[in-house]
Amino acid sequence: MSGRPERLFPLFASLETLPGVGPKSARLMANLAIATPKDLLLTLPEKGIDRAPVDSVLDATLPATVTVPVTILRHMRPPSNRQPHRIEVEDARTTFQIVYFRGHPKQLEDLLPTGERRTVSGKVELYDGLAQMPHPDYVLREGERLPPYEPVYPLTQGLTNKVMARAVEGALARLPDLPEWIDPALLSERDWPSFAEALRMAHHPAATKDLSPTALARQRLAYDELFAHQLTLALARASDRKRKGRVSEGDGRLRKRVADALPFAPTAAQIRSVDEIAADMAAPRRMNRLLQGDVGSGKTLVALMALLVAVEAGGQGVMMAPTEILARQHAEGLRPLAEAAGVVLELLTGRDKGRERQAKLDALARGDIQILVGTHAVFQRDVAFADLRLAVIDEQHRFGVRQRMLLGEKNAAVDVLVMTATPIPRSLALTQYGDMDLSVLDEKPPGRTPVTTSAVPVGRMDDVIARLRGAIAEGRQAYWVCPLVEESEVMDVTSAEERFRSLRAALGEGRVGLVHGQMAPAEKDAAMARFVSGETSVLVATTVIEVGVNVPNASIMVIERADTFGLAQLHQLRGRVGRGAAASTCLLLYKPPLGKTAEARLRILRETEDGFRISEEDLALRGAGDVIGTAQSGLPRFCIADLERQSALMETASRDARALLSADPALTTRRGEAARLLLWLTEQDRALRLLSVG
Ligand code: ADP
Ligand code: MG
Repeated sequence: MSGRPERLFPLFASLETLPGVGPKSARLMANLAIATPKDLLLTLPEKGIDRAPVDSVLDATLPATVTVPVTILRHMRPPSNRQPHRIEVEDARTTFQIVYFRGHPKQLEDLLPTGERRTVSGKVELYDGLAQMPHPDYVLREGERLPPYEPVYPLTQGLTNKVMARAVEGALARLPDLPEWIDPALLSERDWPSFAEALRMAHHPAATKDLSPTALARQRLAYDELFAHQLTLALARASDRKRKGRVSEGDGRLRKRVADALPFAPTAAQIRSVDEIAADMAAPRRMNRLLQGDVGSGKTLVALMALLVAVEAGGQGVMMAPTEILARQHAEGLRPLAEAAGVVLELLTGRDKGRERQAKLDALARGDIQILVGTHAVFQRDVAFADLRLAVIDEQHRFGVRQRMLLGEKNAAVDVLVMTATPIPRSLALTQYGDMDLSVLDEKPPGRTPVTTSAVPVGRMDDVIARLRGAIAEGRQAYWVCPLVEESEVMDVTSAEERFRSLRAALGEGRVGLVHGQMAPAEKDAAMARFVSGETSVLVATTVIEVGVNVPNASIMVIERADTFGLAQLHQLRGRVGRGAAASTCLLLYKPPLGKTAEARLRILRETEDGFRISEEDLALRGAGDVIGTAQSGLPRFCIADLERQSALMETASRDARALLSADPALTTRRGEAARLLLWLTEQDRALRLLSVG
């Protein structure tokens, strides 16, 4: 990595080079993740205090911070220093007291001399009906003035706002003039200030509105952050695209056989996605594509078609699912179609052991198995393919970004297709998957009947069970999802087992099945199989059925304690029904009283089945990190940008970053050079490394 540009040195110097910052303050700032003047500049005030002077404390609604000119009337020295020192003062309309609980009387008399005028600023409160200002923040002589609005920084124990503000001023003073990295057209369209000007404005707010994410200075700085992040992803994507891949060109022969065997016509979105994937696979670079589609949008068929491209080209494909149940279900669902095309499809999971496993591995290495479906077991070290051309990863969010990268490193030339079932708001998709190409299944197969969703208080459990009994009698099937009692699955299991027993008692011994994560694998399969075949009518489950499970005849979903689930999860669960022709129902059992967020979630769910809308609402309710779910989601932390409120900026940044790189791939033009400075400022090491490898 070539070195940091010299003009940025002052911003990366030690904090102690700033006025008023010693080793102790520097240590405290480190607690706030501030290590350099640059970090300090990017730490914006989080609120502000109005210090505009008023004539009298009577003008303020107390308690409030008030700045007011006063005449000092008299000092009331306390009889003992255990009592406060009081100073009576007079403003334009009334008298009030300034109070010190500590401090030398002599010093206080010097600070506020009797008979003179001073402007005091501090919190004024009513104490026994008397206005008093304990320990003013500022005491100014005549002619001295405070900025009318004081920025307040994030602080930590021992670090005062005055120290922060002074250090920020010092850092601003050494801010060099930097060339502009934002597209000039965008800059003028948005009326954004320059980077340096934006920092100065953001640190000198004149009113509360200047702290809002919509303030121009803050928008610009947020954009810088997002743009730097998107540049990194775009660089990663560009360098990925340069990586040699295999040309896998199919002749469509196998795909046609499968299409002919299907009882339905693929949707336009499915056809478009398969075309996009096939074009990528036919290109001489490695595919890195995300297929995003709501529950029930038919991702599996797209995956199969992609796998068939690999086979048509003379190679093999592998599809990895996050759970045993899903892998098994994919294999069973796809096998008849594969057979119709004359393709050998096999299942490999952690349960394959010994001779049988070895036989599968041998067949795979010979190329006798053309499509392998399985859990992460398919990527164990001793699993060797004759000619692997495509890896499909289903339900990506269960794996996380890290595994995706690992996979990429292990199989450098293999095309990768990742499928996510949870629609992600576009801003987050760009954040997490900005280095990938995107195909979207934005259309559901026809003939689905909408799911009727209602929220029912747990008190009406008996009614629910009675309705269930009626529905079963008509041949319908139901899932019954048990609540997440605790973080631990063991607790869920206890509640699931209890519910299983009570439903069996209510609906009949043979009619109710149970699956949960603690069951032995074979037991789990058997329970699933009994439900699929219709032998059992009700399947009691923990959230193991959340992802992907497909039993078209199941038309009722009961979710117990729906108020404890997240919105995306509820949407996923509900997506398990409404897959067949029968009208489907989703009952959200909740325990009143509902909190505000829980109520909003249940309401949104009743209003819409559109996963993309739900994900946007979820983002608004929960915040970015939570939507993706796990700590290792790979979501970057932004210090200024607010993903929830500035998602449109992310899209602009993504487009702009890609445009800049396609015009200037090595960032060598003037704007490119400026963008490099931004990458340094935002410490986008990955991008800088990619650039230096060039
Ligand atoms: P998901 O995107 O949630 O993984 P699936 O691939 O499991 O969805 O598909 C859900 C159901 O829709 C399956 O039963 C599948 O056979 C069916 N399906 C897929 N594509 C179509 C289509 N074009 N027309 C009708 N049904 C379809
Ligand atoms: Mg699926």
